[in-house]
Amino acid sequence: MNNIETTAEGAGQLHSTILVIGGGAAGMAAAIAARRSAKGSGQPCSINIIERNARPGAKIRISGGGKCNVTHQGTPAELLEQGFLRRNEARFLRHALYSFSNSDLLELLRSRGVETEDRPDGKVFPVSGDAATVARAFEELLRDSKVQPHYSSRVRSVERRGELFVVTTADKVFTADSLILATGGVSYSKTGTTGDGLAIARSLGHTITKPSAALAPLFTIKPPPASLSGLALRGISLVAIAGGKSVERRGDLLFTHRGFSGPAALSLSRDVAELMGASGTCALFADLFAQQSSAELESELLRQARKSGTQMVRKFLQSCPIAPQKGSFGVALNGTIPTALVPFIMRYAGLENDVTWSGLAREKRQSLLSTLKRFPLGSVRDVPLDQGEISAGGVSLSEVNPKTLCSRVVPHLFLCGELLDYAGEIGGFNLQAAFSTGWVAGESC
Ligand SMILES: Cc1cc2nc3c(=O)[nH]c(=O)nc-3n(C[C@H](O)[C@H](O)[C@H](O)COP(=O)(O)OP(=O)(O)OC[C@H]3O[C@@H](n4cnc5c(N)ncnc54)[C@H](O)[C@@H]3O)c2cc1C
Repeated sequence: MNNIETTAEGAGQLHSTILVIGGGAAGMAAAIAARRSAKGSGQPCSINIIERNARPGAKIRISGGGKCNVTHQGTPAELLEQGFLRRNEARFLRHALYSFSNSDLLELLRSRGVETEDRPDGKVFPVSGDAATVARAFEELLRDSKVQPHYSSRVRSVERRGELFVVTTADKVFTADSLILATGGVSYSKTGTTGDGLAIARSLGHTITKPSAALAPLFTIKPPPASLSGLALRGISLVAIAGGKSVERRGDLLFTHRGFSGPAALSLSRDVAELMGASGTCALFADLFAQQSSAELESELLRQARKSGTQMVRKFLQSCPIAPQKGSFGVALNGTIPTALVPFIMRYAGLENDVTWSGLAREKRQSLLSTLKRFPLGSVRDVPLDQGEISAGGVSLSEVNPKTLCSRVVPHLFLCGELLDYAGEIGGFNLQAAFSTGWVAGESC
């Protein structure tokens, strides 16, 4: 394909009908869909893609711990419900997720020999257990779609000149009739996502919601004791409180040497970052018996005290189930309070280590009850933006048509993927959203 045009000045400019900036999930899907759509229309169409890394799909390759949780099983409605907790974001993504669904994505992968398997928790992974197979499949699809790649090329600026977009890299100038911006979010900046696309969208007139952390670990002012690092709690409710506001998420929690991670912490991190932004700090608590109300747990403790007066309270805590065996971690967890945590609970509740149920005064039982329902985990120091699997914030959704992903501000500009102001949960929802919005953007332009 030769799409070099020579300007009057003689400088080489590469003209494309469609130019995609960003070779991640969204950008690759957009370029492939654009080619399929152009073929259908019978119109000549040159498609170029610019990616600053030497190869596309850097984030796909590291996703899911290198195994790539490529999507989630279920209907599009179920994906929207489970994966996108903020209603306006789910509403925005609805059309894209129905237009290019998880089944469409899996069929596309299958067409390149990538078989997938569903996990019991609904996550979908390639059978190969290797994220690179997904990235390679998309690279091949790009090649077969005769999309002209420009790798190791970082876009510096984009201007709208008359009917054309003029896109400048370090050593080239590109022009295009339509432009698809798919430059991702701002976390894991070493993968190439340093927010260039947000600056470009702003320079073209778009409103940007300030990026903030999401699906990120929570670092506490006082890290958990070293003896608890690596410990996991199943099915608890993690609560964050600041400035009279409280947010909460149910799931498994992992103690780390700097604070907390695991599904509950990652999922809550976006809300925590927002609370931190407003109040400067944020206190964390765990409801260790999230499945029971305070009244139910109180009855349970009372029953235990009557039934097993000679049992040591700490023995009960070590063996009493707090959650079903099925959890959201890949590692084996048991659904009880880990033995290493029990002394901390006893101490916080003001209980002697060897106290038995019959030796437990009523007020001590009350103290144990409130500790179990509200175990303090410390105050958050930081929710590191760069360590999030994604970033929240981005191009304001109200300025993008959800049916076409076309900008409402700049004609012939399309925006897709994590660059947009939505954030999905862990479980394959973010890659699916990037593929779906990318696909729709490519088809529409
Ligand atoms: C460690 C980690 C694990 C993850 N695991 C999962 C998972 O298992 N499942 C899931 O669903 N999601 C996962 N995610 C999230 C998911 O990978 C992203 O949401 C998704 O890849 C976003 O796709 P995108 O195409 O919008 O952006 P990206 O994949 O980030 O692609 C944007 C591309 O644009 C390029 N670019 C940026 N600026 C320029 C420029 N100026 N010029 C040229 N190119 C530019 C970048 O180099 C990048 O390649 C994970 C993320 C991380 C960081």
